[in-house]
Amino acid sequence: MPRRVQVVWFKRDLRIHDHAPLCLAAAAGPVLPVFAIEPEQWQTPDSALRHWQFAAESLSDLSQALASLHLPLCCWQGDILTLLEALKTHYGIFELHSHQETGNAWSYSRDQRVNAWCRHHGISWHQPRQHGIVRGLKKRHRWEAQWEALMAEPRYPAPQNAHVANGWEAFHHVPSEQLATLALGFDRTPCPERQPGGRREGHALWQSFITHRGRRYRGSLSKPLLAWEFGSRLSPHLAWGTLSMREIVQSLRRQRQKHTDDAQWAASLRAFTSRLYWHCHFMQKLESAPNMEHQTLHPALRGLRERDPEHANLIAWKHGQTGVPLVDACMRSLITTGWLNFRMRAMLISYATFGLGLHWREPALHLARLFTDYEPGIHYPQIQMQSGATGTNALRVYNPIKQAADNDPDGAFVARWVPELARLPLEWRSMPWALPTSLRQRFDFHPGKDYPLPHDFDAEARHWKAKLYQLRRTPEARDTSQKLVTKLASQRRPKIGKRQKTPPNQLSLFDQ
Ligand SMILES: Cc1cc2nc3c(=O)[nH]c(=O)nc-3n(C[C@H](O)[C@H](O)[C@H](O)COP(=O)(O)OP(=O)(O)OC[C@H]3O[C@@H](n4cnc5c(N)ncnc54)[C@H](O)[C@@H]3O)c2cc1C
Repeated sequence: MPRRVQVVWFKRDLRIHDHAPLCLAAAAGPVLPVFAIEPEQWQTPDSALRHWQFAAESLSDLSQALASLHLPLCCWQGDILTLLEALKTHYGIFELHSHQETGNAWSYSRDQRVNAWCRHHGISWHQPRQHGIVRGLKKRHRWEAQWEALMAEPRYPAPQNAHVANGWEAFHHVPSEQLATLALGFDRTPCPERQPGGRREGHALWQSFITHRGRRYRGSLSKPLLAWEFGSRLSPHLAWGTLSMREIVQSLRRQRQKHTDDAQWAASLRAFTSRLYWHCHFMQKLESAPNMEHQTLHPALRGLRERDPEHANLIAWKHGQTGVPLVDACMRSLITTGWLNFRMRAMLISYATFGLGLHWREPALHLARLFTDYEPGIHYPQIQMQSGATGTNALRVYNPIKQAADNDPDGAFVARWVPELARLPLEWRSMPWALPTSLRQRFDFHPGKDYPLPHDFDAEARHWKAKLYQLRRTPEARDTSQKLVTKLASQRRPKIGKRQKTPPNQLSLFDQ
C-alpha cells in the first residue's frame, strides 16, 4: 500500500536542522514541504515590510537547503485552508506536520480553523514543540524543569533519505527569487540597515558572538551603541526560526565549558543563558494569557490612558520628535535598523506610557512593525510589564536623562541619530531645552525652533505612577495580582542564597 503524503508546513521555523516536523515526516512517507503566504496575515496591523523581507531571505536560504535534500519548497500564496483543500483533492488523506506556534491572535485563530478542518476531514496534525512552552498550562510550578529537559534533548538531524511527493509542482506559486518583491499590504516603512535574514547569516552571527563578540556582552547590554556590537542580535533569527533555540542552548553550553577560567566570558555567557530562558518564559505568558495582546492584563488598570491614535504626543513619539534626545535617537535608529537593545526598548515604552500618558496598545503596534525580530509572545508581555499594566511588578520608569548619562555618556548615539544636536557640547546634548540663552547664538541652536521642546516628563510620570499604585492597592486588586503571579510569574527557585536578593554581579530582569 502506498504511504500517505506527509505535508510539512513551515511557519516561523525556516530551517532544516533540528526541525522535528521535517524529520518525522521524512521517516513516515513522501514529503511535501510548503510555506503559505497568507495575505490576511500580512495585512494585520502588526505586520511590516521588514518582517516580510527578513522572512523572504530566510525562505530563499531554506529553499536551497531543502534542494540539498532533493526536496522543493512550495511557496503557496493564499489562505492555508484553500491549500489544504487542494492537497486533499490531489492526494486524498494526508498527514500534516508543523511546529506548535505561540503567535498573535490572528495566527491563533487561523490554527483553530486548521485544527477544526483536520478533525472534520480525518487528517492527523502533528505539532511537536520547538520552544519550551507548554500548552494548557495552569500553574508555573516546575516549568523550568521541562524547559531544561527539552533543551537537553538530542537535535533532529536534517533527513538525508527524504522523498518528495509526486505532483508537488501544482502547489508551487512563487519562485524564491520573486518572494522579496511581493506586495502584501503591510506597512512599507523602509529599513535600510536591517539585519539580513537566512540561516547562513544567523549562523555567522552566532559564530562571531560565541567566538569573540560575546566576551563583552554583559557590560554592553544596556548601552545602545555597544549592544549592537557585543550583543548577539540573534533575535530575528530566533523569531523566524532560522536557528533553533535548542541548538543555540547546546552550543552555548559546550562553549561555557571552554571559558570557565575566564571571568569575563563566564559572566557574559551566564547572563546570555538567562536571556534564552526568558525568551520562552515570556512567550509562555502570552500562551497562557493570550488576551495580553489586546487588553491590559490587570482588570483594575483597564480604561486608563486611552488616547486618540492621532494624538500629538503619539505622533511625535512615533517619528522621534518628542524633544527628548535619547528617546528620539532610539526611535530614529530603530526605524532605520529594525533593532534596539533591551534597555532602550524598555525606555521607549516607558516614556510613551508614563512620560506622555499614552495607552500601551498603539505604541506596541508601532514597535511591533519596527522590530525585525517582532515576536508576539515576548513583545506584549514586555510591553505590559514596562508600562505598568500587569499590576504585579514593581513600577520601573526609565528616566531618559539618567539613561543618557549612564548608557550614552559621550553622547555619540544621540549625535549619530539626532544630528541637529551634534553641534551642542556634551553637557547639553541630552537636555537641549536647558541650553543657556548666552550659548544659543554661539551654537546657533534655538530650542523649540531647531528641535522640539519636551513635555514635563517628571510630573507626568509621577502622576501615572501614583495613580497605578493607588488602583493596585484595593483588596480586590491585590487578590487578582496574586492569582496572576501564580499563573504567569516564574516560579524558578533562586540559586543565589536564602534571601533571594540579586547579587551585585547578576542582573535582574529589569536591570539588563
Ligand atoms: C518593550 C519591549 C518589547 C520587546 N519585544 C521583543 C520582540 O518583539 N522580539 C524579541 O525577540 N524580543 C523583544 N524584546 C526583548 C529584548 O529586548 C530583545 O530580545 C533583545 O533586545 C534582542 O537583542 P539580542 O538578540 O541581541 O538579545 P540578547 O541579549 O543577545 O539575548 C539573546 C536572546 O534572548 C532573548 N531575549 C533577550 N532579552 C530578552 C528579554 N528581556 N525577554 C525575553 N527574551 C529575551 C531573545 O530571543 C534574544 O535574541 C522586547 C523588550 C521590550 C522591553
